[in-house]
Amino acid sequence: MVKQTAVIGAGTMGRGIAFATALHGIHVTLQDINEEMLEQSKAYMKEQFSVAVKLGKTTEAEATKNLENIHYTTSIEEAAKDADLVIEAVLELMDLKIEIFQKLDEITPRHAILATNTSTMSPTEIAAATTRPAQCVALHFFNPVPKMKLIEVIRGLETSDETMEKALAFGKQIGKECVQINEFPGFATSRMNCLIGNEAMNMVMEGVGSVEDIDKAMKLGLNHPMGPLELADLVGLDTRLRNMEYLHKTLGEKFRPSPLLVKYVKAGRLGRKSGKGFYDYSDKNN
Ligand code: NAD
Repeated sequence: MVKQTAVIGAGTMGRGIAFATALHGIHVTLQDINEEMLEQSKAYMKEQFSVAVKLGKTTEAEATKNLENIHYTTSIEEAAKDADLVIEAVLELMDLKIEIFQKLDEITPRHAILATNTSTMSPTEIAAATTRPAQCVALHFFNPVPKMKLIEVIRGLETSDETMEKALAFGKQIGKECVQINEFPGFATSRMNCLIGNEAMNMVMEGVGSVEDIDKAMKLGLNHPMGPLELADLVGLDTRLRNMEYLHKTLGEKFRPSPLLVKYVKAGRLGRKSGKGFYDYSDKNN
């Protein structure tokens, strides 16, 4: 059983993963180099625990106790020194992920499992930078983490059976469903999802329909719970662009990022997190 975790990166995903872990009584230290992200995460945890109490997922007393089990720091050493499991959720940049895994390899206990929440990249390549590739794996959570049931557990080339078993057991411990996927760029989910979103962006660019109508068509005609454009706004258009760039590099031409996505990111339209993407969130409570 995992008792102590560290989550590296307190952005959209890191704070959600830290919450989902703490909700199940596991100690978490959330680390980020940006103090502001840690401050935002503290407010996010309070809000999420209060939602969880309202939904009957936990009690008031448990929520108070588990909220105190979350610690915040800018020091990766402090976050990871006693961890059984570390989940990295920093930007989708291979060099950054490798640098963090090398550091984690130096500072975590020898038994610790090192996991990446990458959406697309190779856990094998990240693991190869450590002295414990058998204990490295990808745990791909979905956004928003408190609501989404799935973790895609991705086996890298050297990931051991024991690590896979522990990763699957952790998924169960925090009440998620898992699928086991063998490593390939974009895994099972991002590969399809990015392609759908990119096509929707190209359709907006070509004037096929409005943003609202393209999303509505997918929701009411194809039964998608969210439209591909509102989903891209939720993911973050900068994050989505990095995903597309990696898939384009590894899987070829059909994954070329939509020029409209590139233009939006250049303009600082990053989706919900910046207040504007394909939709305008400036006057909404979110
Ligand atoms: P984000 O931009 O919201 O957050 C990234 C965080 O990493 C920021 O808070 C940043 O300050 C922090 N960071 C940067 N460098 C750091 C360092 N050296 N040490 C510690 N923290 C550092 O990004 P996100 O959307 O949360 O994505 C994080 C990862 O999760 C990416 O690999 C992404 O592909 C993956 N992912 C994202 C989604 C999604 O919907 N957004 C879904 C699944 C997986």
